[in-house]
Amino acid sequence: MGLSKLAGAVLLLPVFAVQPSEVSAQHLRVPAQVRPHTVSAPIYEITEIINDPDRLSEPGIAAYYKVNTKGDFYITHNTDSTFSLAYRSEDITKGLLFPEKAAGQLVGIVDAASVGFPGGFEIRSAGKAAYSVNYASHIKSSVSLLHIPTHTQVSSTYAKNMISAIKSLPEPFTSELAKQGITVMIAKDYNDAYYYYYPSWKEYDRWKTEDPAKPPYEITPKGYVDNRKYSSTGGFFIDKKAVIPQIVTQYGTGKLVDRSDSKDYIVRVLYHELGHALDYAYSSAFSDSDSFKSAHALDVKSFSDEDKKNLVYFYNSRSEAFAHLTAALLGGLSKDEAAVMLSKFKRSAEIIREDVLPRIGVNISVEDIRKNIYPDYNRKAPPVKTSQVISIPDMPRDLVPQLA
Ligand SMILES: [Zn+2]
Repeated sequence: MGLSKLAGAVLLLPVFAVQPSEVSAQHLRVPAQVRPHTVSAPIYEITEIINDPDRLSEPGIAAYYKVNTKGDFYITHNTDSTFSLAYRSEDITKGLLFPEKAAGQLVGIVDAASVGFPGGFEIRSAGKAAYSVNYASHIKSSVSLLHIPTHTQVSSTYAKNMISAIKSLPEPFTSELAKQGITVMIAKDYNDAYYYYYPSWKEYDRWKTEDPAKPPYEITPKGYVDNRKYSSTGGFFIDKKAVIPQIVTQYGTGKLVDRSDSKDYIVRVLYHELGHALDYAYSSAFSDSDSFKSAHALDVKSFSDEDKKNLVYFYNSRSEAFAHLTAALLGGLSKDEAAVMLSKFKRSAEIIREDVLPRIGVNISVEDIRKNIYPDYNRKAPPVKTSQVISIPDMPRDLVPQLA
């Protein structure tokens, strides 16, 4: 269906304004309801957002969210932050919408994550050929791993890109992490994602200054130093959560950067953080195993001074090497970056590929990697040059600010 035709369809829809939700999208700062939601109705998704002013049929409507029923069914997001519904009565009589239920009964739940809200919409039968909608912030997203806390919301573009990044992961990887209680928490910005949960980080950032002339992290005569604020870190893994805000600050300038449209960045951060998640999913970290320790030690033994500087993050920390190599093997890095990682840490990479990933059902052959990621994987090939410091958008796990 073409876009203009769809707009036409929306214009023609009879709009039933029913039961505005008590909790609106703009007023999400409600106490989190911790009761678990037992799903007793089919789950639906929002497949399209119509918010172009030219295509909205009447004043007072901010957007239509198309729901994947067989017919035309839209949740209407009103400018006063309430929700209502738009649908054709004939689609109900044709049985194209929801299974028939008595008035007041739940007929479907629509996951709100794809438009960037926590929770979902409960659609109920409202008697003869009618429905009502109620926004409920506590409903768990149907997207595996994804969690949007009730105190925040993200742009629909960010939500969409994050959901497709999660869905690009191998299924056994995602389901095993879900089984281990791992979540991917997204939030509007570093305030909602970081400071909200860890107030001491806000204090740390208050006095921490970033010098744009210095790299984000380096080895100085005093040892390894991380020069970043929390606010300029793209994500981190903590308490079984990969936390990845939509808006962060730019290292060295403090300028706000909205990552909604940065698909490659989102994939890179997500895969890296979930590399940590895999590392720490069980009682002891894979990156602390004897085999990984000795592989890592052997890999960095041949590092030039240039490599030590450019790969300092992974040279300095086995767990960072583990996370980023996992991201590389799963295809989450650019070809150039993957080539650097997989050639400089070839023994470490091989342990993850051969010993670790198969334990959770992810089997990647050397041929797969050569074909799709890095043509010289496990070959005697000329060394790849490292040309610049590889900046990682996350905080090392062991950096805990000490505050007086
Ligand atoms: Zn990391």
